[in-house]
Amino acid sequence: MLRAFLLLLVCSVPARADYIHDNLRFTLFHELGHAVIDQREVKLFGPEEAAADGFALVLADRLLSAQDMASMVESITILARFEAATETFDPWSAYMPTGQRLAYAICLYHGLQPWRGGDHARALGLPPALAGPCKEIAAEIRDAWEPILAGLTPDAVSGRLRPGRGKALRLLAGDIRLINQNLGLPRDVPVTQDWCGEDNAFYYQYDERIAICSEMVEALIESAGRSLRQ
Ligand SMILES: [Zn+2]
Repeated sequence: MLRAFLLLLVCSVPARADYIHDNLRFTLFHELGHAVIDQREVKLFGPEEAAADGFALVLADRLLSAQDMASMVESITILARFEAATETFDPWSAYMPTGQRLAYAICLYHGLQPWRGGDHARALGLPPALAGPCKEIAAEIRDAWEPILAGLTPDAVSGRLRPGRGKALRLLAGDIRLINQNLGLPRDVPVTQDWCGEDNAFYYQYDERIAICSEMVEALIESAGRSLRQ
């Protein structure tokens, strides 16, 4: 039954609206990771971008249903493969190359709950030999974040995500509600949609704010048209 369900998910391409929402959702969870690292002064042993991706997957695994998790990973896979096709490798970039960043996300997706992501992660390209190591990597990432998340319950800290206006924020309204119900922050973090001059999203330390660029929303709408069957 579960296998049939997962195969059904593998064979389905997300709807255009889901693809846009899923990618914005992963972006929000990732930027929230930067906010937690900053406000909690989390000490890192590696690149912050990889840590923020780990946070995003651990939090998504806690908050999302199996179906929503599968849809999100499916959508970020489609986007990453679309972007990787035209990417130029820059060894000095803060980010891993898109293809490798995606592989790490699929590895954690599988490793966090193999029963949820097993066949699906394999269908998205996870080599069978990495299924075991990914479980160990995911357990270590979860163990690193859990004590931090345990101190960030809504009862323990009063900061919340404070959404502004814009299409991205309308699409993310339910996610922001869900996060605020389950996670607090030491201080409020506004979430805004702004033109920033590039297709990206940021957590700005100087005013402790998450900005989702309007360029990202437009790029997602465009890539949805090119990547998905209409
Ligand atoms: Zn980042």
